[in-house]
Amino acid sequence: PAELEDLVALFEVSRTDAPTSDEEREASLQAPKFGTVFTDHMARITWRAADGWVDRRVEPYGPLQLDPATAVLHYAQEIFEGLKAYKHADGSVWTFRPDANAARFARSAHRLALPALTVDDFVGSLAALVRTDVSWVPSGEDSSLYLRPFMYASEPFLGVRPSAEVEYLVIASPVGPYFAGGVKPVSIWVAEDYHRAGPGGTGAAKCGGNYAASLLPQVEAQKNGFDQVCFLDAVEDKYLEELGGMNVFVVKADGSVHTPELTGSILEGVTRSSILQLVADRGHEVVERRIPLAELVKGLASGEVAEVFACGTAAVVTPVGRLAGSTFDHAVGGGGAGELTMAVRAELTDIQYGRAADRHGWMRRL
Ligand code: PMP
Repeated sequence: PAELEDLVALFEVSRTDAPTSDEEREASLQAPKFGTVFTDHMARITWRAADGWVDRRVEPYGPLQLDPATAVLHYAQEIFEGLKAYKHADGSVWTFRPDANAARFARSAHRLALPALTVDDFVGSLAALVRTDVSWVPSGEDSSLYLRPFMYASEPFLGVRPSAEVEYLVIASPVGPYFAGGVKPVSIWVAEDYHRAGPGGTGAAKCGGNYAASLLPQVEAQKNGFDQVCFLDAVEDKYLEELGGMNVFVVKADGSVHTPELTGSILEGVTRSSILQLVADRGHEVVERRIPLAELVKGLASGEVAEVFACGTAAVVTPVGRLAGSTFDHAVGGGGAGELTMAVRAELTDIQYGRAADRHGWMRRL
């Protein structure tokens, strides 16, 4: 692989002439609310069908001006990623498995008929932005700089075909602990009237449309007093898929760990695949398979299922304390956070924050 220095050097940096003051920045780093505060710059690369990827740059953060006919506004040809930069005790800044996010971004691009960005440009753009805005990486416990790479169809054209012009950007937002005041188990409503994705659809891609489709079920679940929605498969309406923005795991009392297999309609989480590795390292039997909701409900009633947790970049590992639908309502493991759930959470965050050895070579210094 190319040296990071060389990849970063491809980006021309034009700094803002109105940087956030140290005082203001420090204030916003104290208790940043997810996704509300952004750093002073953004990384950017432009693609044109005739030229490929050109104009690698870091420029002042600011609004985009879009022609009303810009394709993304009409046909949602758009993809994104989400990962974090962590500050370690010695002040160095690292990301977690950015190559995995780059690979998923390329798969999403393929599904949405967008041009592929190389792993080198993906990682180079993250490093170019984080190095420019390094003072924005928080050092507080469980704090990080959330990185949001995204790509959209920028051609002003109303025909339905892949855009001949595309913009790729990375923006960054400091985030504090997801669970301020300690990890709290969440309650989950299993969606009955909605599916998130179907066979042959875009479920395995990280495209904005999937999230638009998950909003109404999420709002309805919250109206019913639940934190999150869990979607079932769209064919048999029987098997667990995932939450709106997290994968799901089931831990049985016999110690085996189960998660829905990748069917093409769920997103392959980087946290999911890392947890599969960590629980296997701990000697647990790990099973990726189709998990019938009926089996889970029965297992919760009988005590055969000990823990359920959700996982993703934002919250890392979230214990599930209650699972309900119109015909069932069960506390999970007494409603508290499960033992393996919390152990895996601690192990993963220890690696990410440099408190534990990175034995799988997951961390990449920016
Ligand atoms: N499923 C969906 C639908 C998601 O949006 C996310 C968040 N990217 C995940 C799962 C978890 O993926 P990751 O662990 O890579 O954040």
